[in-house]
Amino acid sequence: MTIPARPPGPSSERRADRPLRITVLSGGVGGARFLQGLLHLLGQPGSTPAEVTVVANTGDDIWLHGLKVCPDLDTVMYTLGDGIDQERGWGRTDETWHAKEELAAYGVEPTWFGLGDRDLATHLVRTRMLDAGYPLSAVTAALCERWRPGVRLLPMSDERVETHIVVDDPEEPSGRRALHFQEYWVRLHAQVPARAVVPVGLDAARPAPGVLEAVEGADVVLLPPSNPVVSVGTILGVPGVREAVRRAPAPVVGLSPVVAGSHVRGMAAQLLAALGVEVSAAGVAGHYGARARGGVLDGWLVDTLDEGDVERVRASGIACRAVPLMMTDHDATAAMARAALDLAHAVGEQGHA
Ligand code: GDP
Ligand code: CA
Repeated sequence: MTIPARPPGPSSERRADRPLRITVLSGGVGGARFLQGLLHLLGQPGSTPAEVTVVANTGDDIWLHGLKVCPDLDTVMYTLGDGIDQERGWGRTDETWHAKEELAAYGVEPTWFGLGDRDLATHLVRTRMLDAGYPLSAVTAALCERWRPGVRLLPMSDERVETHIVVDDPEEPSGRRALHFQEYWVRLHAQVPARAVVPVGLDAARPAPGVLEAVEGADVVLLPPSNPVVSVGTILGVPGVREAVRRAPAPVVGLSPVVAGSHVRGMAAQLLAALGVEVSAAGVAGHYGARARGGVLDGWLVDTLDEGDVERVRASGIACRAVPLMMTDHDATAAMARAALDLAHAVGEQGHA
């Protein structure tokens, strides 16, 4: 399938002498795959010139063996920079694991995190720059000089935020224990119920330089099919970001990460359940809420399998369409991006913003 080359997105209020500004709030694998499709669409001959700014979640960041690891930033950077392991969806191509094996041989914990040899170089450079006093946003820009992802990649915040997941633990006096998000996901494979999600440090974090401007100055704001709790939810939780999205002049359109009641891949279902949110396309839309009613969305795309959710989403004040939402290849994902920009155009015309 080829994507017809026509101007993407709302153009009525945009000055024709500058590129269309698209701002995307992204997690790791789901967000990065969507961005690949968006760039594929924007690269089609005849497409309107556009600039994409990505605000990435850093709540999954973790310090390991003295190194700062930023999984979502790196997944976006490697994916768009053509350095990602396609099959795994994270980490580097042609990766080897000697350092991880050697650390395990010393009995150094944690041993469950997939720290590849090539990937390690990124964390060494990042940590060295942080130690020298550069903020994470500057470090990210420096790393992107190598990877040239084709987007402006910003961490949501330069400050440390760490998402923790509360699980049952009969050995604790309280009966519960909080784990780092990575331990819940990588070691426990999200196979025990999550009782609560605690973004440690989020309340005190400030948006990184450029984040609020990217939202306020956008022509379109997109919420990709990233995890609505620990990816997009964490970004929106940085003080000032949700408010910026709510008052942005641009239309805000999201794509459902839940298809036919399943999160496709990942662990969104477990975390939505912890928040008491229905695991459905309409449930996630309701969780984000209509901008007209205090939420963050003007428009929402659900998969064609969830056609039955469309009326419910519309009734909650959110424009909604059903289109295929499975990111099987670049063309399919580009078509999703096209549908998101078209819906943004439609809600922009209706003066939803
Ligand atoms: P993470 O940080 O690596 O977990 O990645 P994100 O938060 O950006 O995205 C993870 C979410 O992407 C998962 O929870 C899924 O719900 C969603 N997802 C993954 N693949 C697909 C797909 O093909 N289609 C849709 N609609 N959602 C997907
Ligand atoms: Ca993540």
